[in-house]
Formats: sequence, structure tokens, C-alpha cells
Amino acid sequence: MNDSLGRTMTDVSLSPARLRVAPSPTGDPHVGTAYMSLFNLAWARKTGGAFVLRIEDTDRARYVASSEQQIFETLRWLGLDWSEGPDVGGPYAPYRQSERLDTYAPYVEQLLAAGHAYHCWCSPERLAQMRAEQQASKQANTGYDRLCHGKTRDERAALPGFTETPVVRMYIPEDVELVFEDLVRGPVSAPLPDDQVILKTDGFPTYHLAVVVDDHLMGITHVVRGEEWISSTPKHILLYRWLGWDVPAFAHMPLLRNTDKSKISKRKNPAARLEWFREQGYLPEALRNFLQLLGYPPASDEQEVSTFEEFVEGFEWSKVNTVGPVFDLDKLNWLNGHYIRALSSDELADRIVEHLAHTGVWAEPSADDVARLRAATPLIQERLVLLSEALDKVQFLFTPDAELELDEASVNALPENAAAIVDASLAVLEGLPTWDDESIQAALRARLVDDLGIKPKFAFGPVRVGVTGSRVSPPLFESMAILGRESSLARLKALREAL
Ligand code: GLU
Repeated sequence: MNDSLGRTMTDVSLSPARLRVAPSPTGDPHVGTAYMSLFNLAWARKTGGAFVLRIEDTDRARYVASSEQQIFETLRWLGLDWSEGPDVGGPYAPYRQSERLDTYAPYVEQLLAAGHAYHCWCSPERLAQMRAEQQASKQANTGYDRLCHGKTRDERAALPGFTETPVVRMYIPEDVELVFEDLVRGPVSAPLPDDQVILKTDGFPTYHLAVVVDDHLMGITHVVRGEEWISSTPKHILLYRWLGWDVPAFAHMPLLRNTDKSKISKRKNPAARLEWFREQGYLPEALRNFLQLLGYPPASDEQEVSTFEEFVEGFEWSKVNTVGPVFDLDKLNWLNGHYIRALSSDELADRIVEHLAHTGVWAEPSADDVARLRAATPLIQERLVLLSEALDKVQFLFTPDAELELDEASVNALPENAAAIVDASLAVLEGLPTWDDESIQAALRARLVDDLGIKPKFAFGPVRVGVTGSRVSPPLFESMAILGRESSLARLKALREAL
């Protein structure tokens, strides 16, 4: 198979490729930006090429100042690092389109001079009216009607619906190539484009011009982006040809879908926001692995867990699933649990502390709190799904004794002889020579089970409720060891009084 440059696929994989992700800073970064970055970076790595980050901020109406920083932070958090970009510089700087306006201007002139583009003075009102009429008459061709084409300013000014500041439009020829070769889809056929605006009244290029100029000047060999851009690709190819440039290879990735197959949007699904995953307490390696799986199913079930290096190693465009991959959070939760258990308990504790700091729950924890969390982490590691759930599970360790609330249902479910059990436990724990989980367990077992003949199933319930506040808790004796003798006894006494 040959690509759009006529190179065979083997040749493509041999030469170092330059790829880019080009998000628009229009709000919280979308999970799709990470998804695209992953595939761009994978191919750059596989070919020993480069992965570039470019900020496409030409749409000033939708520009959100904080968005760029969030893009940097979330992609870095995921480990999807770029070697050239607005924040790190590079040989093709600047990498922010708003700083490249002078770069685009001569190409607009060139296209105008060659007759591939023309000025359009139509007012927004006229364009709206034109569209309404086209819709009312159910016209098949709903593009711009070319009222301005071939006219001078003065000729056009004599007609209604004129504005002083023109835009520049492409003149799409009738024989425009509508079929192009896509790395993941093979030949793709796109609809006939409209006379696309390439330069706006504010002097900014539109995405369509800027993307082509920048991809060319930055030496981008592969344009990997979402499938929503398929319909724009014939316009982009035209611009490449008109400007006398080589056309890069294209790969249009499928849009991520909700389980009901609808497209993931920030309005409807919180998981569309990249930052959401961090707030929820997903590990970046789990999300990265999850996005890999969305690209294509692994060869076998065992290979669902894979490093980025393994993904790069086996990566082929032809494997990519073109049917919208379903965003299944159960799978992501499973992966997160897997990666949580793969950490040492100290690493996990660090991640939990980092997460609590990031979400502002523990802005400035004391050294004691951090040490206590570190001690408690092994007790919750086995069943933890999200970092955000960690503190909740061991909150009783961080609550002052007097403020510990006893779960009502748990207290009500205690056996009749709960008071006697608590008294016996207090007596034996008060004199315990060493305070560690094994001694605590041995002493309570000897007194409650062996001496008093209480079934183990019932013996420790009252102690658990007294110490942790609930009948459901992390391992009891380890919890008591961390809590210390003084607190454990104070809590048992408080329960005794409540009974
Ligand atoms: N700025 C475009 C976007 O945010 C980039 C599309 C492309 O990669 O060509 O979707």
C-alpha cells in the first residue's frame, strides 16, 4: 500500500516521522486531546521521530486563557511529553498560532494572486439570510453563493449586505479531489466543501489555513487527528497543492463514545474533561493504558495491561479500530485497581498525598498525618479503586477521639452482650505489655474467644465499632496499632458509655 506521498508503508515506518497534537485552548482540555497525543507520540517514538505540541488559538471568540496551562499540565501528568512546543521552544518556534500571524499573511496574498482565493465582503446578516433561503428552498448545495467572487470592492459595495472589512475565501474548484488515503481507513471519501474562509476580518487565519501552513513549515509528516476533520481534509489537500507543498499522511482516529454510543461531550459526560480523571483519583498510567486499549483491542485478554513502550513496540496504523471505541469506566476502574496494587505501599501513599494536595483536601498536611497515612496505606491497598476513596476509608484514624461518630446502624446491630465484650476488652488491653497488631489480636482472642467462649464472628464486632465507628472497616488490629493505645481505649470507653 502506498501513502499519499507515494511511499510504501515500510518506507514510512523507517523514516523518522514528525507528528503534532494541536489543541485549541477553548476550555478544559478534552480527553480526546490525550487520546490523539498518545497515537501521535507512539508513532514518533516508533520511528525515532519527534512529537510537537502546537497551540491553535486563532479562534479568539472561543479562547480561554487558563486552558493552555491546563493542556500542558494534564498531558505532562499523563507522561505524554513533547520535545517542541510553546513552553519548551524548538527549531520552528513560535508554536502558538496567535504569535505567527505574520507567517500566514504572504500565503494569503499568494493564493489571492493566483486566483485560488478571493475577498468576500458579505455581512453576517446577508450570510444568515442566504442560508435561511437555501434551507427554505431545500437546495442541495448550501455553500456560499459566491456573490463576491470576481468583484472589486466598489462593484460589491454597490450591492446590499456589504461590510467594509472583507474575509478571504478559498475558491473550491469543481474538480476538487474528494477521496484521500487515510492510514487507518484506507480510501476515504469526503463531501464537497464550501468556499472556506481562510482569513477572518480580525486578520487571524482560520484553522484551515493555519493548520496547513504550520504543518508544512514545521515539517509534520503525519497528521493524526479526530475523525471530525475528515470533511476538512480535501480543503487542506487543495491548499497544499496550491502552495506547491508535499501532502502529509493522514490518520483520522475514531471519536470516543459513551456506552450508549453517543459522542463524548464535555456538556454531557464529566469524563470528557481530562482533568476529571485526575480529580477522581485515577493514576495516569491507568488512564494511559485505558486510552491504548481504546485504540484497538489487545491480541489476547492477558495483554490488556501494557506499558507505553510495549504499545509503541506493537503499534501499527492498520490495527486501529475505526468504529467509535466505547468509553467503559468499569474497565478503567479495573485498570486503576491493577496499577494501584502494582505500586509499593510507600509509592501509593505518596500518590494519595499528592492527590489530596492536588484536590485541596490536604493542602498542607502535617508530618504526623503523612506518616499515619503511610502506615495505614497497606490496610487499604488491596481493595482501593480510586485515590480519592483512600482518605474516606481511614478517616477514623485522623478524627479526634471525641469527634468520632458511631454509625447508628452499626451500633444497633451489636450483640446483646456488647457491653460485657467491651469491658473485657478494655481490661485486657489496658495492661497489654506491647502495643502492636499481633499482641492486640492475641490478647483479645485469648480473653473473648478462649475464656468467654464468644464465637470469633461476634467477639470483635463491638471493638471494631468502638474504634473505627463502623462495622465495616480496614483490618481492625492493624488499625488499633496505628491509632495507639490511648486513643483506642478512649474510644472503647466512649462506646461503653453509649451502650
Ligand atoms: N485545533 C484542532 C482541534 O483542536 C486540531 C485539529 C488537527 O489536529 O488538525 O481539534
